[in-house]
Amino acid sequence: MARSLEQLTVNNTFAQLPTSLYTRVNPQPLSDPFLVSVNPQVSDMLELDVQVAASQDFIELFTGNRTLPQFEPLAMKYTGHQFGQYNPDLGDGRGLLMGEVTTSTGNKWDIHLKGSGLTPYSRQGDGRAVLRSSIREYLASAAMHGLGIATTHALAILTSTTPVYREQIERGATLVRVAESHVRFGHFEYLFYSQQHQELKQLADYVIQHHFPELLTTISDDESRYEAWFEQVVARTATMIADWQSVGFAHGVMNTDNMSILGLTFDYGPYGFLDDYNRHFICNHSDYSGRYAFNQQPSIALWNLAALGYALSPIIQDEKLNTILDSYEPRLQVEFSQRMRAKLGLTTKQDNDAELFQSLFQLLQALALDYTRFFRTLSHLTHARIAISQDEILKASSAQTTLCSNNHELLSQWLQSYQDRVEAELIQTSDAQRLKAMQATNPKFILRNYLAQQAIAAAEQGDFEKIEQLMTVLSTPFDEHPEFEKLADLPPDWGKTLEISCSS
Ligand code: AMP
Ligand code: MG
Ligand code: MG
Repeated sequence: MARSLEQLTVNNTFAQLPTSLYTRVNPQPLSDPFLVSVNPQVSDMLELDVQVAASQDFIELFTGNRTLPQFEPLAMKYTGHQFGQYNPDLGDGRGLLMGEVTTSTGNKWDIHLKGSGLTPYSRQGDGRAVLRSSIREYLASAAMHGLGIATTHALAILTSTTPVYREQIERGATLVRVAESHVRFGHFEYLFYSQQHQELKQLADYVIQHHFPELLTTISDDESRYEAWFEQVVARTATMIADWQSVGFAHGVMNTDNMSILGLTFDYGPYGFLDDYNRHFICNHSDYSGRYAFNQQPSIALWNLAALGYALSPIIQDEKLNTILDSYEPRLQVEFSQRMRAKLGLTTKQDNDAELFQSLFQLLQALALDYTRFFRTLSHLTHARIAISQDEILKASSAQTTLCSNNHELLSQWLQSYQDRVEAELIQTSDAQRLKAMQATNPKFILRNYLAQQAIAAAEQGDFEKIEQLMTVLSTPFDEHPEFEKLADLPPDWGKTLEISCSS
């Protein structure tokens, strides 16, 4: 059932929470607005007619040029730890929660407008987003969803002739973000540090009621319910990190205000997907110390969960908090191993799996192999060919054509041990089944930084075709797309060293 804007059921349940959690603000208009792209998958989620999402009414509504009474925009107040330091002054500084859409099946979707202008929480900022960063978030949201990773979604990008001043003058743009919730760890930190402990309980009840409703029916006592809820937040966060690490995604700004209470990948800024495998990869040019380097993400997520736990101390006892936090690491280990086994097409669990994975990561690091193409190449090798496919693997996943003898040895040894392991499993799974499963778990297409960059450069010249091409392959990244084969190529050397900074 596709609906018009007026037919959407829009609630504003967040506005029923204590008023210290938000300020009502209207979007500020952008000039001469026009549509860059709309994601039909996301309009489907909302049961919104995709034609409507491309209409003039829609464009005007989401660039601050028109209001509709069912949307009652508000800026959320939150705080958070940025690069380890508590900052009490955060909040929606350039975005607004426009309303919450409820679908015919009872799903609730927040509609958040990013780039909507000044709010009381804008600090020194201008409240705006530029086209470049809006495209980056739009593409990443689709890419993560295509990979099956929990994420916020992006319905549309709109842009304008309004100048926005960054290192140079850019176009003001908005992103229509859609997510089950925009509640962050930082919302709870805000209520905790500002001594609003009654309100904190109300927000926890709200999140449970809307997003963990089964806890209301299964657990009658408040304290146990908060514990069970926090346990689920920890579990979802561990799942998200296992997903990120297995697909080679670096978020770049894992501040607690960018951590979703639902374990969604949230607030895409200077993120990056690994090209060459490098566990020390830092995608955020402003992250001088490497706090948010790729291999730090698992421990930073735990740090962030501990910060959330501390903020929840008025409603959960310390001892319980610690026990629940202790469940993070084993859960992450189990989930990450499951994903690695799946990537390698292994269906049984063996004692030396950890060793096999560890030696694989050593190999990928030492040879700087392209993470995505390496696994995709393995996904096409019948068992008997694995150990003899060194040249094929090297050609597919590296610009190097020859290897020093040490690295050669690493590669041949690992491939032999992998082939042995695969052959030991042949009784359970046929080669055909194994390869089919591997191709469904190892993407052919990922959002390489240089591809995003090319799409942005074209869009800034008014050509949006590259965005659409990327959306096609990224939304079904496990499929072959012969017409877009080039988008699965190894990146050019210049494409591996692009620098991306924080908020823009
Ligand atoms: P981010 O790095 O995007 O997660 O943003 C961190 C904080 O800065 C949040 O409170 C944002 O609302 C705020 N912020 C980022 N960019 C801007 C901007 N251009 N204008 C106002 N506030 C901003
Ligand atoms: Mg943020
Ligand atoms: Mg942001």
